[in-house]
Amino acid sequence: MKRSSLASLFLLVSLPVTAPLAAQIPTATRPKLVVFFTIDAMRPDYLSRFESQLTGGLGRIYKGGAVFTNGFQDHAITETAPGHSATMSGRFPVHTGITTNLAGVNDTTVSLIEATGLGASPFRFRGTTLTDWLAARDSRTRVLSVSRKDRGAILPIGRSKRPIFWYAGNGNFTTSTYYASALPDWVKAFNARKLPAATAGRVWGLLLPDSAYSEPDSVSLESGGIGFVFPHRESSSPDTATRVLGDFPWMDDITLQFALAGIDALQLGSGPQTDVLAISLSTTDAVGHRYGPDSREMHDQILRLDRSMGAFLDSLFKIRNEGDVVVALTADHGLSPYPEIHTHDPNLGAARVDVRPVLARLNNTLTSAGVPATDFTDTFGNIRGSGFQFDVGVLELDRQALGRTKINQDSLVAGVRADFLRTAGVARADRIPDLARTDTVTDRVARRWLHMFSDESKAALVVTLAPYNYWSSYNLGQHGSPNDADARVPIMFYGAAIKPGHYAEFARVVDMAPTLAAILGVTPMETIDGHILQNAIK
Ligand SMILES: [Zn+2]
Repeated sequence: MKRSSLASLFLLVSLPVTAPLAAQIPTATRPKLVVFFTIDAMRPDYLSRFESQLTGGLGRIYKGGAVFTNGFQDHAITETAPGHSATMSGRFPVHTGITTNLAGVNDTTVSLIEATGLGASPFRFRGTTLTDWLAARDSRTRVLSVSRKDRGAILPIGRSKRPIFWYAGNGNFTTSTYYASALPDWVKAFNARKLPAATAGRVWGLLLPDSAYSEPDSVSLESGGIGFVFPHRESSSPDTATRVLGDFPWMDDITLQFALAGIDALQLGSGPQTDVLAISLSTTDAVGHRYGPDSREMHDQILRLDRSMGAFLDSLFKIRNEGDVVVALTADHGLSPYPEIHTHDPNLGAARVDVRPVLARLNNTLTSAGVPATDFTDTFGNIRGSGFQFDVGVLELDRQALGRTKINQDSLVAGVRADFLRTAGVARADRIPDLARTDTVTDRVARRWLHMFSDESKAALVVTLAPYNYWSSYNLGQHGSPNDADARVPIMFYGAAIKPGHYAEFARVVDMAPTLAAILGVTPMETIDGHILQNAIK
């Protein structure tokens, strides 16, 4: 009996999903394909909130898989790039070298193929991933990684030069010259179908009847007060529709269709070896930023994602034996609710915190002390001034420039720290060496910062807002902090080798790679931060 039919039997007779029927499934042989989903900005409470309406792929994994209900990206800068660097490496950003989106995959020494825009490569990524561990055992290991975003495609695989593709705003899936000099024929053929342009004029309405949604639709805080009510219409211009595709649910759908084309072209999962398919789906992040986690739009996006993933898994299991596939799912980070909306989070009193006056004073101090003046600029909270940069709570100093002045850097940092702490909404401002002396078992914020930085070279000071507070400089939905709303993510496994159930133990995304390695019978090639989640394994 196949796992899928077992799972649906469960649903029909409403047995608890932890029922020990799994014992009747014959012991699995080594999986031939790992499918690793990373859903951008997916909060795990979407699964419990919408459980009864999840009839597709998300529901299948949530109701029939091993679900760790207390899962975290256990690092401080909960952005996409560091999150993706942790998924298949089993290591925290402090060890992968990927600490922020700004210092993620952007690489001016390489170019995109059949697309324009910023080049991308894993040149900052250090160490190995599950893909490398599998390839070390069997060089026939095949790999495909796809995403809307460059960082989402590149970082789960690490440094190896593999078929890795992401969506370029011109309608093509692209790669960079780090990986190849031309697109393979199957990618060219997929691009030639021009599916993105065909979405022009499409209308995003509710998937289910109105009564299926408890969220109010007319919340004018959403989407900057413009176009916050269903239905949402894509531009009727194919060029515009292609460019803004990432804001619509069908971006995920097209990414999954692209993955299916790749499975066929590369014959993933058909050989004796174990292959890897990494899929990163990003519309949930776009919808989260634009409308927030409590919106009707998010509810509908999750339902559509569920259906798209269901269609994908159905197609996959038609061409590959389900028993040969192990599925893993997580998110690169979570999402904090708008400070003004109080629905699913205890965020009363949350505010938008403006630290720009602190940084303006720092800028003045440094300029007057003789640090060469640079523009004091603010782009979505990434603030640059004379001899410093401030991004996602991290103050980085240009130590060389400051070293040419009489500035005492310790006193400078102490002064700016005190200034931050006088700002309402700033919970703490810490130096990394001080954090290293805290009890990191109980102090999760300290622990998460130490999982980013081991010294002060890139972080003279790390600033943490009180839970649920937003930086004032960006008016849409936010993530990026070490607080739980941003760090909490789903961690799930599904397949013949997996023991279904919901497990409340503390689990981290860095535990996923070693858990998969144990299931696949390979050993990490270096010291990793994660450990095996034994409860997930039959
Ligand atoms: Zn985001």
